[in-house]
Amino acid sequence: MNKQTILVTGGAGYIGSHACVELLQAGFEVVVVDNLANSKLESLDRVRQITGQNVRFYQADIRDKSALTAVFNQHDIHTVIHFAGLKAVGESCQQPLHYYHNNVYGTLVLLEVMAEANIKQLVFSSSATVYGESDSPQYSEHFPLGPINPYGRSKAMIEDILRDLAAADSINQSSSPWKMALLRYFNPIGAHESGLIGEDPNGIPNNLMPYVSQVAIGKLPRVSIFGDDYPTRDGTGVRDYIHVVDLVKGHIKAIDTLQGDAFRQGGCKAYNLGVGRGCSVLEIINTFEKVTGRKVPYNISPRRAGDLAECYANPELALKELQWQAEKNLEAMVADAWRWQSMNPDGYVR
Ligand code: NAD
Ligand code: UDP
Repeated sequence: MNKQTILVTGGAGYIGSHACVELLQAGFEVVVVDNLANSKLESLDRVRQITGQNVRFYQADIRDKSALTAVFNQHDIHTVIHFAGLKAVGESCQQPLHYYHNNVYGTLVLLEVMAEANIKQLVFSSSATVYGESDSPQYSEHFPLGPINPYGRSKAMIEDILRDLAAADSINQSSSPWKMALLRYFNPIGAHESGLIGEDPNGIPNNLMPYVSQVAIGKLPRVSIFGDDYPTRDGTGVRDYIHVVDLVKGHIKAIDTLQGDAFRQGGCKAYNLGVGRGCSVLEIINTFEKVTGRKVPYNISPRRAGDLAECYANPELALKELQWQAEKNLEAMVADAWRWQSMNPDGYVR
């Protein structure tokens, strides 16, 4: 049987590069479109090094319709995994138009090109940030949406667009309906166990795990813990940290599911990808010190605006319908993050 070809937008990025590895190892052909706005080409060289297989790479912006159309003409694309997007919450508050243009308009162009090519199977990178206020810290897919910043709203808008596409198919009784999985990631951390690919933030990291790694290696003096007076077990914020390799395996399960009976008539469905357990900032720091033997100095700072006290996934739907669950524990996440950091203290160099 011919290998199926998966188009990975944003495939040179943190999660996308890990997805490329798992896809190649699962027997897919991989085509990447990335404008390298937040990544380096070296990540894909490393993917080749890990897998011994080649990725077809196009440096292009997903908003460039003719470039994207050319890729669809060149390859027999079976499914698109759509990672391309900007993801920094603070930056999205400063540059909302840039975020909406890149994320929302970029997705519209991608969907138009897919429709024209009659390729209608999509796995989309959504985020737990689409959820609104809730009485429970454990979020299920049916909980109301209500993102509180432009980044989160760009994800929620895209989700709405995708649901509208599926709804239009049922009105029009389309013979080739859209099949779409919206994967709501909780907090992806860690790196491939080879230490060859990982998260390579620009400048000072915003997220906890890369910040802790850079403190441990001596590039930053200490971690600022944003609040220790939350109503959580130790007062610090609680999140659902998930190993990036577990996360990308969820995408392969989603591709399988989209091809099965459940999506025979098409559809658009959201799935949480998380471990289903929360972990506090102090627990992360303590585990990091235990696993790496390095000191991670910290101080307590004021709460960060917009942060929730506690947020973790109910991952039961993904288990039931995608046959997926996270397998790696926090020690493995930390050990792999540290291997990447210590093997690549300056991240990718080119
Ligand atoms: P990343 O920045 O490492 O990867 C995104 C990639 O998309 C980058 O390589 C970037 O160059 C590319 N890109 C951005 N805009 C593009 C455009 N217009 N055209 C072509 N390429 C473009 O981020 P990541 O952490 O790998 O995240 C991947 C996806 O998952 C993003 O959509 C992000 O919003 C989503 N997500 C990430 C997290 C997280 O914590 N990392 C959590 C939830 C959701
Ligand atoms: N956090 C922190 N110091 C940092 C970065 C993050 O205390 O330098 C906390 C943050 O308040 C939250 C948790 O770590 O409780 C995870 O934050 P991150 O930005 O990694 O992910 P988020 O869940 O906010 O998307």
